[in-house]
Amino acid sequence: MPYDKNNVFARILRGELPCIKVYEDAQTLAFLDIMPQSDGHTLVLPKEPAVTLLDLSPEGAAACIVVTRRVAAAIQRAVGAPGLLISQFNGEAAGQTVPHVHFHIIPRFPGLKLKPHGREKADPDRLDQIAARITGELMAARG
Ligand code: 5GP
Repeated sequence: MPYDKNNVFARILRGELPCIKVYEDAQTLAFLDIMPQSDGHTLVLPKEPAVTLLDLSPEGAAACIVVTRRVAAAIQRAVGAPGLLISQFNGEAAGQTVPHVHFHIIPRFPGLKLKPHGREKADPDRLDQIAARITGELMAARG
């Protein structure tokens, strides 16, 4: 599938649409999912244009997993989640809805069911509060 340069994440990467950013470097961007499945649900994506993981360069994939690991640790501390689901969909048939490769970091709590995928928009103030906690943990980890 050719890369659609106007998909919503491409537009966020170009700064044409807003996002609640928690981390950015030369190769990656991480921001809160606007329709989180649990508190702290975050997306990590490469800046490189790629629809699926298989379209992404090995360097882009490596950058994403390193950042996913770092951001996941900060999220775990920020929301006090005992577990983290890290997932990644490739192609519509697999459930991918935005055609720019990304990793989901979804905190899990015992007995708490996940909200449905990409359905219910969260309160923006609540997202801002959670993002502040995550960026605080990322800064603390850097020392
Ligand atoms: P996918 O189904 O492609 O794996 O996941 C796409 C994710 O992006 C969904 O969890 C959905 O809630 C999220 N999403 C869709 N549109 C936007 C948006 O405009 N901003 C943000 N922050 N997340 C979005």
